[in-house]
Amino acid sequence: MIEISPSALEQWCNDYLKANEFKDYCPNGLQVDAAVPIKKIITGVTATQNLIDAAIEHQADAVLVHHGYFWKGESEPLTGMKGKRIRTLFQNNLSLLAYHLPLDAHPVVGNNAVLANLLDLKIIGALYPEEKYPVGNIAQCDPISIDDFIDKVRVRLQRSPTHISANNRFISKVGICTGGAQDMIEQAAKMGCQLYLSGEISERTTHSARELGIDYLACGHHATEMGGIKALGEVIKNILGLEVTFIDDPNPA
Ligand SMILES: [Zn+2]
Repeated sequence: MIEISPSALEQWCNDYLKANEFKDYCPNGLQVDAAVPIKKIITGVTATQNLIDAAIEHQADAVLVHHGYFWKGESEPLTGMKGKRIRTLFQNNLSLLAYHLPLDAHPVVGNNAVLANLLDLKIIGALYPEEKYPVGNIAQCDPISIDDFIDKVRVRLQRSPTHISANNRFISKVGICTGGAQDMIEQAAKMGCQLYLSGEISERTTHSARELGIDYLACGHHATEMGGIKALGEVIKNILGLEVTFIDDPNPA
């Protein structure tokens, strides 16, 4: 059976995702090193206790996620919920790898790229044109009514999005950024999109949509970010030959 050291897996992922090119709110790469060779990996959106427990059940050696630990501004001591998660990882010889912005932005396995594909959108550029590795994108599609597009989201994401209408009846240019990127709506309007699509919605997003004249769809943070980590796991399975299983820890938000 093929195995790889935690640091070698980190190096491979860092290179593949160009992780060093990103300024992020968390460390990307190996966050918990159990110093045990990795044969089996469990992937998931967030490194929750549920996901760790499932990894133990599957006798995995590593957990690979989009949302790991050690976010800027969070309390540092390894106590409480975070302490328990990390204790569980070490006690079960499980390493943790996490990739945040590099996994949003990657042109093949990135969250935006995978979601765009799923919704028949073709990415044509960056929401912020000066970004070398854009975290938000502009995409186009054949003109489609907003109602038909919402139906497509509902079927393919298996989730009803929250729609704030600005009375655009047909769309062909769409701003897209998965997760909690609702505040990029203003930039999407500036770039001439008729629709902006992200994961979450804030109270202020409604007013922005109405006043900027751009429709908004909140499709779920979790729902819009399942694709990237799944796709990265597939690439690791195919290229490195490791055993990789995606596990969903469902989240309505
Ligand atoms: Zn996210």
